[in-house]
Amino acid sequence: TPGDKPMLELRNVTKDFVTGGFGTGRHRYAVRALDDVSLTVHRGEIFGLIGESGSGKSTLARLAGGLIPRTSGTVAFDGTDLDRSDGRELRRRFQYVFQDAATALNPRLTVGEQIARPLRRLGKAANRKQAIEQAHRALELVGLNAGYAGRYPREFSGGQRQRVGIARAIALEPDLLILDEPTSALDVSTQATIFDLLLDLKAKLGLTYVLIGHNLAIIESLCDRVGVLREGSLVETFAAGELFSPERHPDTRALLDAVL
Ligand code: ADP
Ligand code: MG
Repeated sequence: TPGDKPMLELRNVTKDFVTGGFGTGRHRYAVRALDDVSLTVHRGEIFGLIGESGSGKSTLARLAGGLIPRTSGTVAFDGTDLDRSDGRELRRRFQYVFQDAATALNPRLTVGEQIARPLRRLGKAANRKQAIEQAHRALELVGLNAGYAGRYPREFSGGQRQRVGIARAIALEPDLLILDEPTSALDVSTQATIFDLLLDLKAKLGLTYVLIGHNLAIIESLCDRVGVLREGSLVETFAAGELFSPERHPDTRALLDAVL
């Protein structure tokens, strides 16, 4: 059955960023952002990814969806090797919500337009009218009534902009959402409303989430399993309820000590 296929599977994935080498007298050198990472995200779960700043979380997220190339290893999405996947279908089924939707939103487009455009580009709406209707439905799902569709991102609060970013992602009817520190730019009470929304949408739409975050209490309470990255290596993976267990790997305990 299709349910047996992992939503996402990384096998021995390594990523080097090569920098420098421009101009004279400078050497090119590689930063190993991910080092032999293997992990599986099951369909329907919330997989938490934690690790200190620079440990490779965002690199893993971007590489998994094909936004950046990997140096070695394999990635499979819903049982199909990334390199063999239909690029357009992958871009639809694999969506991102970033820390600050403001940087991902086009300031010159109404929010209705910027939700509608990818629907047409990625083949989810047959025409403009249909795309706009679907955009309205997505906005309603995130708690923004149709009156918001004609407004511009600058007219929204930070929390509302995150809702627009989420609406744009779910309008495409994805299977997997990567949430890369989706509430880090928001105040605490707004963070809670966004997480409530994300849980509600997950239940309604049958989504799978990878949640990157640094609030460990939230990670523990929302996630099913958690993976810990340190300097590009996956230290361990465990059930989220075991995050604060004394059995955790020393690197995980060091991370807990640093944050708590
Ligand atoms: P995190 O999201 O956990 O904070 P990142 O994945 O952003 O970590 O970064 C992991 C490592 O890769 C860091 O050392 C970072 O400096 C490096 N890195 C990330 N993106 C690039 C890039 N485009 N070019 C060069 N180095 C990068
Ligand atoms: Mg990051």
